[in-house]
Amino acid sequence: MTKKPLKILSTACYILIKIIPPALYLYYDTPVEKINRTYIRYARYALQAYVLLVLLYAGYRFYLFVTQYEHPGSTEEISLSLDDRPASVEGFLPIGALMSLKLWITTGVFDRIHPAGLVIFIAALLMAVLLKKGFCGWICPVGALSDAIWKLRQRVFTKRFSMNRWVDYALRSIKYILMALFIYIIVIKMDPGAIAAFIEGDYYKIADVKMLYFFTRMSTTTLVSLLVLFVLSLVYRNFWCRYLCPYGGLLGLLSMLSPLKVTRNNEACIHCNRCSENCPSSIRVAELSRIRTPECTGCLTCVSHCPAKGALDVAMPGRRPLHPGIFVLLVSALFFGTLCIGWLTGNWKSAVTSSDYQRIIPATSFLEHP
Ligand code: SF4
Ligand code: SF4
Repeated sequence: MTKKPLKILSTACYILIKIIPPALYLYYDTPVEKINRTYIRYARYALQAYVLLVLLYAGYRFYLFVTQYEHPGSTEEISLSLDDRPASVEGFLPIGALMSLKLWITTGVFDRIHPAGLVIFIAALLMAVLLKKGFCGWICPVGALSDAIWKLRQRVFTKRFSMNRWVDYALRSIKYILMALFIYIIVIKMDPGAIAAFIEGDYYKIADVKMLYFFTRMSTTTLVSLLVLFVLSLVYRNFWCRYLCPYGGLLGLLSMLSPLKVTRNNEACIHCNRCSENCPSSIRVAELSRIRTPECTGCLTCVSHCPAKGALDVAMPGRRPLHPGIFVLLVSALFFGTLCIGWLTGNWKSAVTSSDYQRIIPATSFLEHP
C-alpha cells in the first residue's frame, strides 16, 4: 500500500526530468547546433593502446633481460646489456616512487635505483594537478584494460547491474583508506635516512624483478585474486579503478586542484542524459554544472557523446571552454614531456649494475622485505 504512492511519485519525477525536456526540445524544434566529437574517444583509445603496447613490449624485453641472470654459473652469455633493460617497467612501482619523492623533496637526492619510476610518478602527479586525473583516463594501462573488459562485456551481455548507492560510497572509500595508509607510513612515519637506506638495499634494487615475478610466477592466491577482479570488472564498470586503486585515490584528490573541469552549460543543454549514461565513473554529469568530484578522470567520454554544441566542455575557471583537441595535446605533451626531461637530465636509466643483478636475481625468492 505504502509503496504505490512512492512509485507514482518516482514515475512522475522520471517523466518530468527525463522525458518532458527532450520532448519539448523536439516539439519546439529549438535551433540547437549539433556537434560530433567522436574523435575524442578515438584519440583516447589510440593513446591508451599505444601505451599498453609499449608496456607489453617493455615487459617482454624485461623478461628476457631478467632471465639471463637467473642461473648462476651458467655458461650462457649475458647478451642483453643494461642499456637494453626497459626503464619504463618502473612505472609499476608507485609505492617506491612515493618514497623516492619524499627523499627528493626532503634531501634533494633523486632516486638513482629506479629513477624512471619517480619520473613517471611525477608526470602523473603533475597531470592530476593540471589536467584532472588525465593519467588514469588517458595513460594508465590498467584503466585501459578495465575499459576494454567493460566494452567486451557490453557486447556479450546486455544486463546491467547497478550498485546500491550507499554500498558504492562505502566501497569507493577503500581506495582513499589505502592511500591514507601509504601516505601515513611513507610520507609521515618514514624518515629520509630510512628511505635512503631502503632505496640502496638489495630488495629495492630488484623490486622491478619481483613485480615481474608477480605475473610470471603467479601464486594461486594471486591468480584467484586476479580472476575475482576480472569477474567484478565484468559486472561493475572499472571496479579496480573505482574502488581499490590507491594511486587513483591520490591522483583524484590532487585533481580537485586542477583549473580544468568538465563544465555543463544549462542554456545549451538539451537534457538528453547521454553524458551521464556514458560516464565510466557513473557521475551524474547531466545534473551538475561543474564536475568537481575526485572521481572524474578527465576522460572526456561525456564531452565526446554530448550532441549539443556549447553544452558540455572541459573548461577553465570562468567557464572558458578549452578545445578538447588541445586538452588531448596537453595530456600527451605533459606526460611524454616529463619523461623526456627525466631522460635528458640523466634521471631515467637505473644505476643497478650487471654484477648486482648477477648477485641478487638468483636469490630473489629468499629476499625478504626489510
Ligand atoms: S565526468 Fe566526463 S570526464 Fe569525468 S569521468 Fe565522467 S565521462 Fe570522464
Ligand atoms: S550536457 Fe550534453 S550530453 Fe549531457 S544532457 Fe546536456 S546535451 Fe545531453
